[in-house]
Amino acid sequence: MNKQVKQTQQAEQVDLVIVGGGMVGLMLAAALRHSGLHIVVIERAAYQPVLSLDLDCRVSAIVQGNVHILQSVGVWQYLKDKVGDMTSMRIFDGQKQGGIGFESLEIGEDKLGVLLQNQHLIEALQDTVHESADVELLCPESVERVTWKRSHVEVLLASGRLLYTPLIAGADGGRSWLREQADIDVFKRDYQQKGIVASAKPRVSHQNTAVQRFLATGPLALLPMKGDVCSIVWSASNERTDELLALSDEDFLHELNLEVGGVFGGIVEVGKRAVFPLQAQLARHIVRPRLALIGDAAHSIHPLAGLGVNLGLRDAMVLAQEIVDARKFEEDWGDMDVLTRYMKQRMPDVLTTMASMEALHRTFEMQFPAWVKLRGLGMKALGNAGIVKQLLMKNSTGINLPVPHTIE
Ligand SMILES: Cc1cc2nc3c(=O)[nH]c(=O)nc-3n(C[C@H](O)[C@H](O)[C@H](O)COP(=O)(O)OP(=O)(O)OC[C@H]3O[C@@H](n4cnc5c(N)ncnc54)[C@H](O)[C@@H]3O)c2cc1C
Repeated sequence: MNKQVKQTQQAEQVDLVIVGGGMVGLMLAAALRHSGLHIVVIERAAYQPVLSLDLDCRVSAIVQGNVHILQSVGVWQYLKDKVGDMTSMRIFDGQKQGGIGFESLEIGEDKLGVLLQNQHLIEALQDTVHESADVELLCPESVERVTWKRSHVEVLLASGRLLYTPLIAGADGGRSWLREQADIDVFKRDYQQKGIVASAKPRVSHQNTAVQRFLATGPLALLPMKGDVCSIVWSASNERTDELLALSDEDFLHELNLEVGGVFGGIVEVGKRAVFPLQAQLARHIVRPRLALIGDAAHSIHPLAGLGVNLGLRDAMVLAQEIVDARKFEEDWGDMDVLTRYMKQRMPDVLTTMASMEALHRTFEMQFPAWVKLRGLGMKALGNAGIVKQLLMKNSTGINLPVPHTIE
């Protein structure tokens, strides 16, 4: 046993242990905070923002369907003054003008979603879970050993506390330790790309418009943050991103402006850059007896459409509802009958989103002249496709999806 583990105390019975207090793990705890269940969230380290022009450069586009969920669950009150609205989106093919546009009014909403700094969503979720004495958020804390038994899971913490729980949820991210302990493998797709993220100031107002340029080298997104700042997510091959990261701020700004192609009058200032490897992965099993994986621990996708955490928030809501329903009907919520219901509800959304990201990536990756022409025609047709376009927008903003907005 690790020397850091203190003297083991008497076992405590709790109702749910969540490993990982990131956005998704905290969402599960927030959704269940008034359920009367005793929940323990274990987070190994406090979130450290990576600042770029004084903003956390890790940002998320939260689609409107999930904004409605954050409002219903009671997280929004802590968040609403910190988000930037996204009312429209333009997608351009390479350096060509034109492309396709999406307006929130086309689907009868006042916005397509919001842009926020991850730090702000985490703080808002922490404030929400702190409303309830039934949720213990342990940070810094980690699990020393987890043992699955037939009737419960034994969770030994590094502090020496020993917990018994009917269910353990893995919300510990793409490199999930808990998934590894359960011996669950992943299907992996390495794009051989990295994403550079940074904050950037455009010459003119972004007017709450998100812009996605599909360049021959990979997608470049300009996302409208609060206060007329953009967050850029620039995905390119590993070699190209290494070159871009090695540039001085001035040279990077020059390269960025070459690719931005005059959008928002160009970029006048760019902050510190951070980089993330890009890969998609899906756990071979997202449930096992007394284990449920949620968020990136279950699936992670290319950030080109900014949907990763959106999927995770929906996982959290569906799992929360299944736990509450199981309790109401006196079922054991660690049982596979209950967990299979969670899995069956989530897989269509997860698989469709993963397949769409892959299709989008491949569509814009190919640069044969005939294909580029066909792609342009396809985008034009979609732009004029009325009801089909509306359906696509409603699905990608999560408005149409059968996910509970409150836990009852
Ligand atoms: C460049 C980039 C841009 C993105 N943009 C968007 C976007 O615009 N919109 C969107 O929806 N998604 C976006 N994503 C994806 C999004 O960031 C992830 O889907 C999201 O962070 C997943 O949240 P999570 O809580 O599941 O995992 P994580 O954010 O990885 O959180 C996991 C948590 O678990 C903790 N942890 C890990 N191991 C342990 C352990 N053993 N014990 C205890 N705690 C542990 C970690 O410290 C962390 O706090 C982007 C991703 C990248 C790389």
